[in-house]
Amino acid sequence: MKALLIAEYRQGKLLDTTYELQAFAGLLGAESAMVLVGSPADLPKFSGKLYLADVAKYGEYNPDLHKKVVLEAVAKENPDYIVFVHSSYGWDLAPRVAAALRVGQVSEVVGLPDGKFEVTCCNAKLRRTVAPKSARTVITIQAGAFSPQGEPQGAPQVEVIDVADPAGKTEFVGYEAAEQKDVDLTRAEIIVSAGRGVGKKENVQVIAQLAKALGGELGASRPVVDAGWAPHSHQVGTTGQTVSPKLYVACGISGAIQHLAGMKKADFVVAINKDKDAPIGEIADVLIVADVMQFVPAMTARCAR
Ligand code: FAD
Repeated sequence: MKALLIAEYRQGKLLDTTYELQAFAGLLGAESAMVLVGSPADLPKFSGKLYLADVAKYGEYNPDLHKKVVLEAVAKENPDYIVFVHSSYGWDLAPRVAAALRVGQVSEVVGLPDGKFEVTCCNAKLRRTVAPKSARTVITIQAGAFSPQGEPQGAPQVEVIDVADPAGKTEFVGYEAAEQKDVDLTRAEIIVSAGRGVGKKENVQVIAQLAKALGGELGASRPVVDAGWAPHSHQVGTTGQTVSPKLYVACGISGAIQHLAGMKKADFVVAINKDKDAPIGEIADVLIVADVMQFVPAMTARCAR
């Protein structure tokens, strides 16, 4: 079984999710090759064939050109699986590749039970298991779902890819940073986040008070933001901010993969949850089993002393 892993290069840097693709291929038991439109000066640690197209020529993103590069590598490798990360890059490029190859696609894979693909559905409230029918399948994996084991190793065997006609119908203009409104969570050393478990909008202020007492910032899970209880600039997760504070306090947050993907690099995680089996407990350094609206005000009062 062979997997072709599509690595990603963004804003002058190879992304760490490259190693999540490798972890996924390892769990799949697939021999892997990799494709990167990136810089020859910034190659991934990888023991295998790397098809490299120079970013200076192909740009960091261009759907026509990048599709051609991937299809060229597919022709050379004849893989069973073509695997992208479910990022803005992957979710745009993967279906173009699947359509060009006329093969099926399985999106947002979070697990591999019994050799099948587990994907989330109903806004990640449910999971279902999928077995593709086509011999070859395009896959996107959820960032954060497949953690690399240990330090990445190896030096790739590089083969430069140069598709004949680099002129495409679209042009990559550049990135536009999201407007920074009231907070830059990416720089915060302490983040105290409110989840749906806080119950109502007014209670988010109780969490904000603890954040303030600890000298940190308020974070939030997506349901809290979707409900209008906190601005989007406070959202942590795949569709929010990726943070790496020294301390992350998760208040009434279950620990969905999409949330964990945004905060799993925190040095120390404290979770407050009334459910002792909440998935956040699997990654938390300390799980406090308590009602968040009883525990947090008491802790804030202690901090203020
Ligand atoms: P829930 O999952 O409802 O968990 C609430 C928790 O609070 C439970 O564990 C419960 O036991 C606990 N609780 C309830 N009452 C109390 C109480 N009184 N005291 C203590 N604990 C209590 N989510 C994000 O957070 N960020 C993202 O960027 C993000 N992006 C997504 C992107 C996509 C494409 C999709 C499909 C989903 C995304 N999600 C994201 C949503 C994600 O899948 C989860 O639905 C979400 O993270 C759940 O938020 P939550 O933990 O606050 O709520």
